[in-house]
Amino acid sequence: MSAGTTLAEVLAGARRRLSEAGIADAAQDARMLIAGILDLPSTAFVTDGGRPLDDAQLASIDKALARRAAREPVHRILGRRAFSRLDLILSPDTLEPRPDTEILVDTLVPHARTIVAERGACRILDLGTGTGAICLALLDLVPGTTGVGADLSAGALETAKRNAQLNGVADRFEAVESDWFSAVTGVFDIIVSNPPYIVRSVVGTLDEDVRLHDPILALDGGDDGLDAYRAIAAGAGAHIRENGLVAYEIGYDQKDQVTAIMRENGFACVEAARDLGGNDRVLVFSKAMA
Ligand code: GLN
Repeated sequence: MSAGTTLAEVLAGARRRLSEAGIADAAQDARMLIAGILDLPSTAFVTDGGRPLDDAQLASIDKALARRAAREPVHRILGRRAFSRLDLILSPDTLEPRPDTEILVDTLVPHARTIVAERGACRILDLGTGTGAICLALLDLVPGTTGVGADLSAGALETAKRNAQLNGVADRFEAVESDWFSAVTGVFDIIVSNPPYIVRSVVGTLDEDVRLHDPILALDGGDDGLDAYRAIAAGAGAHIRENGLVAYEIGYDQKDQVTAIMRENGFACVEAARDLGGNDRVLVFSKAMA
């Protein structure tokens, strides 16, 4: 396409190209990529379709479409995605935050508000923080909270710190390189995690979008998918304040198993939530009464 091609023409061409490459949501992906690259609101396709694009813009769009046609996810190509009220940058070391994980955040917001109201503070620990999504969204939504994001990956922690800065909560966020609790100190009001929970033999069968672009470290939950829950359950007792909460994202079929693991470690399930598809996705635990 040559300079002067209009926004509407570029969109039509992009849609065709992605559709011919077998991308299911070709129209939506084309819109998101073009709007993201040009930094335009999606309404621009309606209000400003006659806008001519220059060579540099056309070249950037062309490159992005080639990557999407090769099955790279839209938000990886753009290097960022929205989560809760945040705009997060992604890196090869971080799982792309999923909309389902916002349910974990939304479940915890009222609890964090109550704790801040009662205690004047609420310390949150996010294990396997990745982009920082869960912890940073809670810090953003609940004034008075402070958070620690722990991760085994130094690269992920750099991204999380950057996201804390970009979203205005860096003064309440600390990043700690840690294998679950190994380098974590102190006690917390809320311990939260979206750990790797995919059964190892299933990881290789995931969609290319996920398998080739999300870090395996963030997906592989060991032989039965539950390794992370066992490790966190074993360490949580020493780091949770009395009446504190431990909250997880879980795989769609892991509710009973994760509840059993937590029960063995002295925690009872006090709340559960389902995802947008109706699957069990969020569990909240508290120390069981003796
Ligand atoms: N929900 C993610 C997926 O289906 C898995 C994330 C995880 O293991 N925590 O790809």
